[in-house]
Amino acid sequence: MKRVSIAIDGPAGAGKSSVAKILARRMGYTYLDTGAMYRAVTWESLRRGITEEKDIVDMAEHLSMTVAPGEERMRVFLGGEEVTDHLRTAEVSAAVSRVSAIPEVRTIMVALQRKLAAEGGTVLDGRDIGTVVLPNADVKIFLTASPRTRALRRYKELGGEKAGLSVDEIEEDIRKRDLLDSTRAASPLVPAADAVHLDNSEMTLEETAEAIMKICREKAGDEA
Ligand code: C5P
Repeated sequence: MKRVSIAIDGPAGAGKSSVAKILARRMGYTYLDTGAMYRAVTWESLRRGITEEKDIVDMAEHLSMTVAPGEERMRVFLGGEEVTDHLRTAEVSAAVSRVSAIPEVRTIMVALQRKLAAEGGTVLDGRDIGTVVLPNADVKIFLTASPRTRALRRYKELGGEKAGLSVDEIEEDIRKRDLLDSTRAASPLVPAADAVHLDNSEMTLEETAEAIMKICREKAGDEA
């Protein structure tokens, strides 16, 4: 089967990264978690105490970011130092939408993402993959689920009660991020015109991956 590129966009907690990982494993593809890349820029700005936009841009221009496949999730390195384990904290989640809304930061990240995806056989997940990063992606999925379902998933992912956050608080954060991500001027979260919409509120991640693989097979068959 032709090695296609798969773009999965959608709001926080829709299961994009879990589904992308399943797809990558089953298809022998590389998984690129673009959210982790924006989170790494955010984490570095928090670590250095940088808050001004122009200073964040300056920092991002000089960051040497590399990524590598990992067991659980894609690994991210800044200047050779692994930062993967710092990227999913509530502090980073609360700050990332502001950093990712800076156009110059997006330009830098998009260039890197295109380079990493250039060889094909890649599954990318994010907010602007089908619209901006890979407008010619073979398969574009816009994955959604209800805010409550998404909050419950994130709660479990953060370790349930150990997370120190209630499901309501996570839902509140998710709704805020949805609003910021979909109303920002630079590459807002909108479905690509040719994206297949998939609401997986009532589906397992395996079922979601299966549905996307079916779309890939149809696509590859069309072009064979
Ligand atoms: O997918 P994840 O929740 O890790 O993404 C974190 C944040 O990074 C999103 O809320 C969004 O602000 C930003 N992001 C983005 N464009 C992408 C991926 C993520 O703006 N392609």
